[in-house]
Amino acid sequence: MKMILLGAPGAGKGTQAKLISKNFNIPHISTGDILRSNVSQETELGLKAKGYMEAGALVPDELVLSLVKDRLLQEDCEKGFILDGFPRNLQQAKALNQMLQEIKMNMDRVFLLNVDKDEVVVRISGRRFCENCGSSYHISLNPSKLGTSCEVCGEALIQRTDDKKEVVLDRIKVYEKATKPLVDYYRAQGILEEISGSKDIQEVYDTICRDLQAV
Ligand code: AMP
Repeated sequence: MKMILLGAPGAGKGTQAKLISKNFNIPHISTGDILRSNVSQETELGLKAKGYMEAGALVPDELVLSLVKDRLLQEDCEKGFILDGFPRNLQQAKALNQMLQEIKMNMDRVFLLNVDKDEVVVRISGRRFCENCGSSYHISLNPSKLGTSCEVCGEALIQRTDDKKEVVLDRIKVYEKATKPLVDYYRAQGILEEISGSKDIQEVYDTICRDLQAV
């Protein structure tokens, strides 16, 4: 099963992708996570991407496309994968189609997680992450029992630089302008499924699973 999760920043793509990946045993490919790891390791790609990411802008297509291509060619993607945060614009979507054709694959499903803009801002500005084990929290919606430390490993929780309120609004604008047109693009291909992302995590996940069973 090959699928894409579409939605504004904070719509819950990462959370759902992690659940799907674990339960369906397919890799979760988050371009944001791959880029962040390159930034923290100060690789050539990371150094090029850093400024765009901190400003809430898209990293240039050629950098992202090359990392996605390398990732899709890895063996664990043969039985399927879930893309989170990619494609982010029409050029990337077209390039992805091309890549899949070359490796004789096709996209099965695109889930659009719909969440109101106001809710997205609240969700993102309260997000906290553990850099050590990847656990995620929200200061009011899902707080760590250990306050500002991770419940799983005890490390200090951090806020992503681009989750700060001033950058969040720019990221939402980028979503509206560059990414939203993909909704019509995938709807026209008959593989788009719209889901309310405002429900609780389990309900959203159950809706995705019901749809996947019907594919
Ligand atoms: P995310 O974790 O998906 O919210 O991504 C964080 C940041 O990484 C974005 O604001 C962009 O700067 C960059 N990024 C992630 N995925 C892409 C992509 N497909 N194309 C361009 N930039 C991306």
